[in-house]
Amino acid sequence: MALRKLVAGNWKMNGTRAALAELAPIASAAAAAPSLDVLICPPFTLVAEAAIKANGIAIGGQDCHTGIKGAHTGCVAAAMLKDVGASYVIVGHSERRCDNNETDAEIRAKAEAAIAAGLTPIVCVGETEAERDEGRAGIVVAGQLEGSVPPAGTAATLVVAYEPVWAIGTGRTPSAGDVAEMHALIRAKLIDLLGEEGQGVRILYGGSVKPDNAVELMAVADVDGALVGGASLTAALFVPIIEATAAL
Ligand code: PEP
Repeated sequence: MALRKLVAGNWKMNGTRAALAELAPIASAAAAAPSLDVLICPPFTLVAEAAIKANGIAIGGQDCHTGIKGAHTGCVAAAMLKDVGASYVIVGHSERRCDNNETDAEIRAKAEAAIAAGLTPIVCVGETEAERDEGRAGIVVAGQLEGSVPPAGTAATLVVAYEPVWAIGTGRTPSAGDVAEMHALIRAKLIDLLGEEGQGVRILYGGSVKPDNAVELMAVADVDGALVGGASLTAALFVPIIEATAAL
């Protein structure tokens, strides 16, 4: 089943207010590509202003807390993101799983908090290079899905991103065949976990998506869009990814 594609940019810890100038050409490209959704996830400091300047593109956070409020210095609740105009939030990015020791259970709780606040969580999964070399990539990803996908997630309230850790920021990508194999596994697992709703949950591929490989990666079966890091920081690189995806 062909799903409406989502092209999402994760700015990570990059960008001051000047970076918001990138949004105008990205919004123009999104307007010219009405068959897909475009999302930018800037740092927390820019979410509110980005939402004002979004001009048709969606804005999201890069993380949220599991709770709704309280004594959690430095944390941001999903409802706070929603309040300033966000509609998505990334949870369980491998950099947070690694840097902040986030567990599957915590990621599921964050995803549930996001849904409760009216945000769509993008739940990230992906194996390390060692896990792939050991032939365990499928088992690892299936386990992450079991642990971190909210059981009440639906096609309308949940997105999953497959991001092999070894492909993030390295310029290396899996072959189209390997991506197809993993996305088919993820689709089967989502149906297993969510029933028919799992058919409609969008599965993004992330990891060194660039203008020159976007067509090949986005054309793979069950790839319903991209989660883009480095190449989302400038419209010069992100717009061609939007255009390539829209042309499929
Ligand atoms: C990411 O970190 O989500 C990512 C996909 O990064 P990059 O595109 O830079 O590999």
